Amino acid sequence: MPPRKAALKKAIVAAAHKMQSLGLSPGRSGNISVRWKDGMLITASGILPEDLDAEAGIVFVDGAGEWAAQGKAPSSEWRFHLAIYAARPDAGAVVHCHSRFATALACARLPIPSFHYMVAKGGGSDIPLAPYATYGTPELAAHIATALASRNACLLANHGQIAIGAALEEALELAEEVEVLAAQYVTARMLGEPVLLPADEMARVAEKFKGYGKAANPPAPGGAKPGAQPSLASDRPSAPAVSRLGPRQFR
Ligand code: 13P
Ligand code: ZN
Repeated sequence: MPPRKAALKKAIVAAAHKMQSLGLSPGRSGNISVRWKDGMLITASGILPEDLDAEAGIVFVDGAGEWAAQGKAPSSEWRFHLAIYAARPDAGAVVHCHSRFATALACARLPIPSFHYMVAKGGGSDIPLAPYATYGTPELAAHIATALASRNACLLANHGQIAIGAALEEALELAEEVEVLAAQYVTARMLGEPVLLPADEMARVAEKFKGYGKAANPPAPGGAKPGAQPSLASDRPSAPAVSRLGPRQFR
């Protein structure tokens, strides 16, 4: 087997273990793939993460949806994984899970709106909700391909969530972020009606994310260089002025 293929299979197993240890995928739920050749390498169907084996437990499915007859069957969700790679040429990995809060929102048919600036990590101003269809069906794959055409994550009605990335680590990190946001959104809704950030603010945040975590130019002695990236500390919004705004108003 080419070394890269073997390394990708191992990386998928490691990601499945991490997904389980993060508590994102109860039991046998969830599945993971990475783009490979004209298709993908994907977890086999119905396997507990602890029993997943890099050799036998990861299946190659080609671009036409075919796989070798011998060996394990691929995830029952191979159709939506393949549909995502077709719809998103920039996607290199797909993570699907039934994480607790994302699934709760999906069952209440509630997408995640722009209640927190980190929602922009999903590639837009919300984490949308793909309509319900039976698991494993072409209909579900079509709904998901539509939802992810302009987003990197979505909820699946009465099912769970999906996150994609250029690479596996990115997709897994986003799935974790979606779950964190879902939990925060559920909690915020318990306190009242969350204040939503407007589209222009979400666009500003998305722009800032492009430089987030990248090497920053150190400030010039005696002051910041013109055009230098602000440090994270100076990026923090200052405390709101005392002016009285309506409780639901964004400022
Ligand atoms: P598989 O075990 O077939 O991947 O199915 C799990 C799942 O989450 C179905 O949506
Ligand atoms: Zn599922």
